[in-house]
Order: sequence, then structure tokens, then C-alpha cells
Amino acid sequence: ASRAQLESWRDELRAQYAAYQQRKLALDLTRGKPSAEQLALADALDGNLGGNYTLDGTDLRNYGGLEGLPSARKLGADILGLDPAEVLAGGNSSLTMMYQAMLYAWMLGPDGKNAWRNESNIKFLCPSPGYDRHFAICEQFGIEMITVRLTDNGPDMDQVEALVKADPSIKGMWCVPKYGNPTGCVYSADTVDRIAALGKIAARNFRVFWDNAYVVHDLTDDAPALANIMERCRVHGTEHSVLQFTSTSKITHAGAGIAFMGGSKENLAVFCKQLGIATIGPDKVNQARHLKMLPDVAAVQAHMRKHAAILKPRFDCVLQHLEQAFGDSDLGDWTSPVGGYFVSFNTRPGLATTVVKLAAEAGVKLTP
Ligand code: PLP
Repeated sequence: ASRAQLESWRDELRAQYAAYQQRKLALDLTRGKPSAEQLALADALDGNLGGNYTLDGTDLRNYGGLEGLPSARKLGADILGLDPAEVLAGGNSSLTMMYQAMLYAWMLGPDGKNAWRNESNIKFLCPSPGYDRHFAICEQFGIEMITVRLTDNGPDMDQVEALVKADPSIKGMWCVPKYGNPTGCVYSADTVDRIAALGKIAARNFRVFWDNAYVVHDLTDDAPALANIMERCRVHGTEHSVLQFTSTSKITHAGAGIAFMGGSKENLAVFCKQLGIATIGPDKVNQARHLKMLPDVAAVQAHMRKHAAILKPRFDCVLQHLEQAFGDSDLGDWTSPVGGYFVSFNTRPGLATTVVKLAAEAGVKLTP
């Protein structure tokens, strides 16, 4: 193109950009944050106990029940595909439970015996791109992070197995197996099986942190199924090698729900021994409010369909505009997930920072 043509394109694009800025948008897409419309789906939680503070034969108003209400553990178990004895129902944040699990493993060992802090240069495998807050936890504990390539089927397992086999100072791995941030990919059955088998080649105090934050967050009825990792662990005899987490944060009210931790009974006992020093018990009143609204997995799934009805058109809108703008160019590529909260866009090398900055200056905050 001639200089004059290029200058005319530049002016045209600047005018388009200025028009976007004039719309004074204030959109924050940096987190998996439900919209007010989605949050309102759970407003029935407010006051829904109607003065009845007894559940599972317990006075919900009083202290006790470190492991959570039996009904809440059952709900968590059904969501994660575990036995209720393999689930703790906790407070409002699964991220806090992950942080605590990390802290106890570092301090005393995930088995209560082999503390990570007694070893030097401990490391975690971090499929990347991944969830920034997982990595922040590692950073805080001074745990070295080893980047693992993320494929459309999950982490590159050839790379993971080779690393774990070669280095016993690798103590764990972060996984968001379903609709993970930011790519929205779902781990394949083969990947889940190979992760379950890692316990056979890893150090004895190795733990996979299986953060299933988006386990029920399907946008379509024919969503891909995630293989049950605990079932695969039982086959491999590695039940102790995986700690699972999820929460209702993006099912009901974000940050005001129930968090769940799943794992072998032995792993949970080690965790509870420390947890019992930090707290007397979880908020059972809130657990009961949730159980009243979502008594079982079928109710959770019905509720998630209401989320999908709100979210799916928004995903479609984003994907349609990406296709319109870039479909016949090589300016970038993107993922088209069928669940979760994220679409990941890859720019041409070196341009991401500028794209994020320009979007922010037009009122749209993206996660870099
Ligand atoms: N895990 C993942 C993968 C997330 O994306 C988020 C929130 O964005 C969380 C955990 C936080 O969950 P919670 O609200 O239960 O702490």
C-alpha cells in the first residue's frame, strides 16, 4: 500500500477507536465474575431457612462440625464424583482451602510426615496459561514453578511424566481440568488417567491440586464429560496423590457460598488435624441455606442451565465478533469453549500488552 493509503487507514482506525472510547464502557472481564443477572438467580438464599435452624440433627447456630454438615458433604461428593467421607464442606472460598492445603503440606507434609519445608528447591508443575492465583500461592511459598505446555487435551503429559520421573523435588501440579482459565479446555480421559498415574512415579509427598472450579459450568446439554480422577486413582492405587477442590462461588453468590475439598480419607484427616487448630467449624447456617435451595446435584444442574441461558448468548456474541473481525486474517486466534467463563485470544507475538492497554483505555479490562 502507498503511504497515503496507510495514513488513511490509520486515521480511519483511530476514528473507530475514538468512537469506542466515547461509549464510556466500564466492563471488567478480568475474572470469572458472574453478572448481576446471574447472581440474582440465587437471591432465594436470603432468609430461606424461615427460622428453621436444624439440619442433620444439628443446631446450625452453634459451633461444631469441622468437616461440614453431612448433607453438604454429600452434595459436594455428588458434584465431584466422590464418597461423602472423601469430602469436606467448608467456608466460602475454595482458594483458601487450596492455600491451606499448600501451607499444611509445606509445614508438616501432605501426609503429616514428609514436610516440604525440609527439602530444598521444591517445585510445582504449572500448566500454562493457567490461573494466576495458583501461581501466586507458589510464589509466596518460594516454590519454583515449572511451566508445562497446555494442549487442547490438557497438560502435555509426555513432558509432565518426564519431569516427574526425573526430579523428586517436584511436589505437585496445578490443574483446572474443566473449562480452565484462561483457555476453557477440558482434559481428555487419557490425560486424566495419566495424571492419576503420576503417583506411581512421583515423590511420596507429591500432590496434584485438582481445582475443579468449573465442574458444572456447562453452556450446552452435550458438554464434554470430564473423567473421574478418583476412579482412575483407585485403579492405579494412587488415591492419596490428588487433592480436589470446588465451590459454589460461581453457582450461587460469588464468594458467599460453600467450598469443598475432596481427597482420600487419610489426606482429609491430615488436613482436618491442622484445620481444627485454625477454626472451630464452618458456617453451617450458610451451608443449610444452600442445601435448601440446591438439595442435590439435579437441582444444581437445573440451576446451571439458568446460568447457561444468560451466558451462552454472551459467549456467542463474543465469538461471532471475533470471527467477523479476524476470521479471514492471521491477526490472532482464539478458543471457543462450551463452558466456564473464559475465551482466550492469542495475538501476534509482541502485541498482547498493547491490545490489553488499548482495550483498557476504551473501558474494557481484559486479563493480560
Ligand atoms: N479456582 C479457579 C480456577 C477460579 O477461576 C476461581 C475464581 O475465579 C477460584 C478458584 C476461586 O474460587 P473460590 O471463590 O471458591 O475461592
